[in-house]
Amino acid sequence: MSDGAPPAPDRAGTARTAGRSAVVVGGGLAGITAALALADAGVRVTLLEGRPRLGGLAFSFQRGELTVDNGQHVYLRCCTAYRWFLDRIEGAALAPLQDRLDVPVVDVAKPEGRRLGRLRRDPLPVPLHLGRSLAAYPHLSLTERAAVGRAALALKGLDLADPTLDTQDFGSWLAAHGQSARAIEALWDLVGVATLNAVAGDASLGLAAMVFKTGLLSDPGAADIGWAHVPLGELHDRLARKALDSAGVRTEVRTRVTSVSLNENGTWSVQVPGELIDTDAVVLAVPQREAHELLPPGALDAPERLLEIGTAPILNVHVVYDRKVLARPFFAALGTPVQWVFDRTHASGLRTGQYLALSQSAAQDEIDTPVAELRERYLPELERLIPGTRAAEVLDFFVTRERTATFAPTPGVGRLRPGARTKAPGLYLAGAWTATGWPATMESAVRSGVSAADAALSALGRPRPRHLFEFEEAA
Ligand SMILES: Cc1cc2nc3c(=O)[nH]c(=O)nc-3n(C[C@H](O)[C@H](O)[C@H](O)COP(=O)(O)OP(=O)(O)OC[C@H]3O[C@@H](n4cnc5c(N)ncnc54)[C@H](O)[C@@H]3O)c2cc1C
Repeated sequence: MSDGAPPAPDRAGTARTAGRSAVVVGGGLAGITAALALADAGVRVTLLEGRPRLGGLAFSFQRGELTVDNGQHVYLRCCTAYRWFLDRIEGAALAPLQDRLDVPVVDVAKPEGRRLGRLRRDPLPVPLHLGRSLAAYPHLSLTERAAVGRAALALKGLDLADPTLDTQDFGSWLAAHGQSARAIEALWDLVGVATLNAVAGDASLGLAAMVFKTGLLSDPGAADIGWAHVPLGELHDRLARKALDSAGVRTEVRTRVTSVSLNENGTWSVQVPGELIDTDAVVLAVPQREAHELLPPGALDAPERLLEIGTAPILNVHVVYDRKVLARPFFAALGTPVQWVFDRTHASGLRTGQYLALSQSAAQDEIDTPVAELRERYLPELERLIPGTRAAEVLDFFVTRERTATFAPTPGVGRLRPGARTKAPGLYLAGAWTATGWPATMESAVRSGVSAADAALSALGRPRPRHLFEFEEAA
């Protein structure tokens, strides 16, 4: 293996010159983005991924005739970097956005039965765009709805640049702003658990404020939801690989990097089994623990801080029924352990029956629960939520467990997240866990990849490709 890639035209059509090279370690969304961004600027790039596929934490696998995602992934219209990424790999049409935010919320807590509410937006300026929906939201009392409106305005007034926000927890802030336990459960956690992967009491106010301000209180369409209508692997592996190939990136999977070291002449050596690769710059786009292992001494002032960044699990429960049981593409649930339910039938390639995936975030209590126990717990809950399941036969039931799905967005995590630049010249960090300001999302991963590429390009004396950073202006 060598780090050479053939010269290829960049997106502006100009020919690449040889001479500057980079190795990107890790083929998740951060690494793929960094590799594309560097290659688009004319750098010879080698992307090294330990697993047999690209996509990192957002991938698919085969189970019989089903193509299964390891976990349901959604993004929002305000995720401008991830949308840029989808465009760049020519995958945007395969993961479309809703025309406008519309989330059915089914509550089964009351003995009198199921109750449907909706979180929808109107074509009105912020915050009026959610006013009608909130006023009619049946899962909160009139007093609670008014209090939610007041808290939303207070949230809108928070300064995201204020570092003290990261020292407080969101749950205490909500309670101090008049939010009842019910309002937290039926509204703030409904959105917050899915986006932060933590309940309000465990989440940094800074990260929560970032999510709610950007998603619900910036642009009227910011929270419109998008999700892949194909398996994630189609986007993050197959189409990403195609884009990398045509950008001239040399991509090696099943290639685990074991060490990274600075040479006396200022270049870098990257060790993989059987070969040492020399390069001008290295982007470590691996999870924080692996980054800590690979970082050479002196690259960060306090490298042990990376190990203080906690992780949080996500569980997905997958059920295949012999018939169609649900007409909606997805819904959120209250009064039950079920959080969000998505119809994955078409996306998975299933031809008859229906395949539902339950996305269970902040799943610390259930991540190690045996599958038989989860089956006994969740099938009756689905019968309460979706009447059509009561007469249906369950053809398959399985779970996917991601123990380190995200970094834990706990208060204080902000000071532990390093930026893209290290103290070692030519060595950069990327990953959803780095200091992007976002919680651990696809958006954060892509942003981190662009930041690392940007830092590397300026050190390599390469111009930043204009098209790369357009999303920053739109953000
Ligand atoms: C179940 C689940 C549901 C999620 N839901 C959502 C969602 O709805 N919306 C959303 O935006 N985000 C969601 N996320 C989070 C999102 O998937 C991640 O934030 C994002 O994919 C992280 O990308 P990354 O590139 O930073 O890291 P990773 O995906 O972790 O990529 C790092 C890569 O580095 C590789 N690697 C590690 N060490 C080495 C080495 N030594 N040599 C070579 N390669 C190495 C790994 O194999 C991996 O491929 C979810 C995550 C999970 C698990």
